[in-house]
Amino acid sequence: MGKIRLGIVGLGKIARDQHLGAIEATDGIELTAVASRNAKLEGVHCFHDIDEMLASGVELDAISLCTPPQGRFAQAKAAIEAGKHVMLEKPPGATLSEVFALEKLAKSKGLSLFATWHSRGAAGVEPARALLAKRKLKSASVAWKEDVRHWHPGQAWIWEPGGLGVFDPGINALSIVTRIMPETFHLTHSDLTIPSNRAAPIAANLTFETASGLPITAEFDWRQTGPQTWDIRVETEEGPVVLTHGGSRLIVDGEAQIVEEDREYRNLYRDFVTLVSKGESDTDFSPLVHVADAFMLGRRIETEAFED
Ligand code: NAP
Repeated sequence: MGKIRLGIVGLGKIARDQHLGAIEATDGIELTAVASRNAKLEGVHCFHDIDEMLASGVELDAISLCTPPQGRFAQAKAAIEAGKHVMLEKPPGATLSEVFALEKLAKSKGLSLFATWHSRGAAGVEPARALLAKRKLKSASVAWKEDVRHWHPGQAWIWEPGGLGVFDPGINALSIVTRIMPETFHLTHSDLTIPSNRAAPIAANLTFETASGLPITAEFDWRQTGPQTWDIRVETEEGPVVLTHGGSRLIVDGEAQIVEEDREYRNLYRDFVTLVSKGESDTDFSPLVHVADAFMLGRRIETEAFED
């Protein structure tokens, strides 16, 4: 198989910060085209939107969607119907039913669909998973607290229905927890703090229970200034297993094990090349299921208006 000829849709923050460099650094894939209403990239074919890109006659094998989750379904559907493999930024969609529909559509066409979870590629995640599989667990807690003004300046979509609010980063934590915990878990309690002028939460407090009854708590907050917190702590009978810095550092029983540079997006593109070459898909939607549960079970607490 030759190189995968890739088109990116949505040349925004994450496409520029991570996707372009990761594609450049990955064997077996090359950027051929970009579709973005307000941005262009030198050296590749540029289009206003995905429909124009698909109709252009430029040969593409796959599409990577870097747009906000609202509207992603129509783009993914158009790409799959045009015979393209598809890679989805997280969260994979704005609703559960649409992502299951995409999974079915890709399968029916024999195309690869990759619902990516970049945080699962952080260096400490797989070692933590392997370690926890061998230990006796007691509880787990997540603290995912960041400054929305710093990380999401001017992103209006994130506060709209389907934008997920604080679950936009919070789902990254859930993507790690669903990967490292040896057993499944379900939500039992959800408090959602929502600014009076916004549709999506600025903070959330969640409680889960594992299949064997162990407690998991999660605190997501977008109002944290100063040092940022992206930590997951699992108490085990043998001692604590802690992931910090979004999963890139692993501390076992108080001793740092792994400190590594960020390779999350290079891992994603490497995995996408492998999936396409094997004719496989990777569609684990479990983090989005937990977020949907948090909205379903959520008690809404109104708080002061949020201005950018
Ligand atoms: P962004 O900066 O707003 O970029 C998204 C781009 O999509 C926009 O620049 C826009 O480009 C295009 N777009 C198409 N339809 C749009 C619409 N209806 N509203 C707004 N933009 C639209 O967002 P982002 O931070 O890159 O996030 C995109 C996705 O990546 C999200 O799912 C997010 O969760 C995920 N992600 C973001 C980060 C991060 O640090 N920001 C990290 C990991 C994952 P045109 O106007 O040119 O069409």
